[in-house]
Amino acid sequence: ISVQDRGFQFADGVYEVVRFKGSRFLWLDEHLARLERGLTALAIPGVGSRDRFTRVLPELVRRSGSGEGSIYLQVTRGPAPRDFSMPISAVPTELAYVAPQTFFTWDQVLAGTTACLMEDIRWTRCDIKAICLTAAVLGKAVAAERGASEVIWVGPDRLVREGGSCNLFVVRGGEVWTHPADRHILAGVTRLRVLEIARESGVVVREEPVTAEELLVADEVFLSSTLRDLLPILRVDGRPIGRGQAGPVSLRLAERMRAVVDRELSADG
Ligand code: PLP
Repeated sequence: ISVQDRGFQFADGVYEVVRFKGSRFLWLDEHLARLERGLTALAIPGVGSRDRFTRVLPELVRRSGSGEGSIYLQVTRGPAPRDFSMPISAVPTELAYVAPQTFFTWDQVLAGTTACLMEDIRWTRCDIKAICLTAAVLGKAVAAERGASEVIWVGPDRLVREGGSCNLFVVRGGEVWTHPADRHILAGVTRLRVLEIARESGVVVREEPVTAEELLVADEVFLSSTLRDLLPILRVDGRPIGRGQAGPVSLRLAERMRAVVDRELSADG
């Protein structure tokens, strides 16, 4: 990769993380569609990227010899002499590698996780999965300092947006609330599945934000992401959410999510 790659010097690109097991990918089409939308939003010529990844990924996984894990995909604007204006003729750099890993056990889901609230210091195009993750790096560092595992971004209006690398859901009176998929959050592939599963389970879903203060007194809070599926958040800013244990709505949806993921990733699914 050239030292002049726009990804390296300007964080000028987009990425995806896709889970796989054996020869099966979890919601690959949705991830590649989001990658394509990101490329369009950044005016990076993405012609053929989607088809190339679709062709190459099975072979990449096969050659890696790993049975389970995630694939990191990245497309940058490519190498060009350093200049803020977009180069006319740079050829995008496409990259993919395999990270072998295992995913949460049910006991880990029950054990949940912790988070802290922080002012959202990101830009106003969080709908693009851009490789510039400086704000998330700072946010996760603040979370670690405060003894929490994840940061929750709060807007200037005190509305809760999402997590450092996940979407966020709040359960109030049996209903699931989550920020609408606008420019303040990434429309997570897993988030969409959570909403589908909730509706199928007869749970009322509201794509409306709640305030930080409402979150702190919610019955349950949980997150969703490719690498964590659906995970209860048991403490925020050191204070227990509800009874400080994984709640019934979170667990019902997490159970259902595991079944859906297992089915998608099973060889005969
Ligand atoms: N929001 C942010 C900021 C993220 O970085 C991520 C994933 O990395 C998500 C949400 C969850 O998206 P997905 O479910 O597609 O992994």
